Amino acid sequence: MTWVQAIPILKKLEESGHSAYVVGGAVRDFLLQRPITDVDVASSAAADEVRRIFPKTVQMNNNHETVLLFHNGIQAEVTTLRGRELKEDLQHRDLTINALAMDVHGELIDPTGGQVDLEQGLLRAYDPARSFADDPLRLLRVARFHSELGFAVDPLLKREMTQFAETIATVAKERVVKELWQLLAGSGVQGALSLLCETGVGLYLPGLRLGDVELKKLQTIPSVHWESECRSWAELLVSLRSADALSELPLANKTKQVGQQIWRMYQHRMRAALDDGSLYENGLEVAVLTEEIRKDRGLQALRAADVKAQFDSLPITRRSELAISGKDLLNACQDQPGPWLAEALAFAEYAVVTRQLENKRELLLKAALKEVGRH
Ligand code: ATP
Ligand code: MG
Repeated sequence: MTWVQAIPILKKLEESGHSAYVVGGAVRDFLLQRPITDVDVASSAAADEVRRIFPKTVQMNNNHETVLLFHNGIQAEVTTLRGRELKEDLQHRDLTINALAMDVHGELIDPTGGQVDLEQGLLRAYDPARSFADDPLRLLRVARFHSELGFAVDPLLKREMTQFAETIATVAKERVVKELWQLLAGSGVQGALSLLCETGVGLYLPGLRLGDVELKKLQTIPSVHWESECRSWAELLVSLRSADALSELPLANKTKQVGQQIWRMYQHRMRAALDDGSLYENGLEVAVLTEEIRKDRGLQALRAADVKAQFDSLPITRRSELAISGKDLLNACQDQPGPWLAEALAFAEYAVVTRQLENKRELLLKAALKEVGRH
């Protein structure tokens, strides 16, 4: 996707008598020749006006000035300028490289010198103190772009980061999480972590205190870019050598669970080869990610294809493939359900996965009931 695909949206807004520009990240990434995933549009049209012009819209519930719309197969967020000049809007953005706009003819609007900063690889703010006072999340965004783009940080910006470090504590955890995983996934992660350390911002992150000790541990995160959010959180747990560092962060339970499983599997793999029991218990996704993490940390690791082949050759890959169920066990011994049932099933499951018993109904029933003393 490129910003060009947003031109029909700009045209439609202009035809209705409004000004409209592509702004922010999409312009930056176009000039950097990086792929873009979303387009932001700034327009003089009010939100209800935008909804009137475009049939397919979704109102963003967190922001009444922004409308998400679908047009010509692309998705765009349209934000109203509310009577402000475009130039003023751009001056209120976080960094000069994000304060760029493009009109329908592809003409660049650059009131803060963002294009030169892009060429020189510099992270700079138009008015750093006001920028951080307006929205302290920008403290973390500086570090995120430092990691993602490898750009240098303007000394003045860095000085203000130090001044404002504590204010990051007031930002909603949900917003922090989005920037943080991208920071961890960038190829300049080490520099970004140093920046959090030098400016003190790491100390005040809501839900995850990153002091000198933690930031030093995190330096083991490899300088490799990845797209997966899960991978970022798992890298964090592995580096911090902790199973519960994510507990206070607002992440999906599945993400936290996968992170913990990877950390446990990683520890297990420090001592042993990949065994069927652990592969079955943790599943293919966790095993593949664990091997990737090992590889990027310079450890001997299995290729994804080999992990998959081993997984596919497991006698069973999930409990539902076991030849007996809890019901079968109950019927066979006419007893009341109780903890023994789970124990018997776990026994059968383990015996089949580790190839000590074949996955055959009669055989398993007998062995499992015997194991828990019920014949
Ligand atoms: P990416 O989409 O690659 O993660 P982005 O720069 O597009 O990066 P978004 O969060 O999509 O980031 O925001 C789009 C644009 O909105 C930014 O380029 C920037 O101009 C502006 N923006 C976003 N967040 C902030 C913020 N906290 N403070 C000021 N401006 C912001
Ligand atoms: Mg964006």
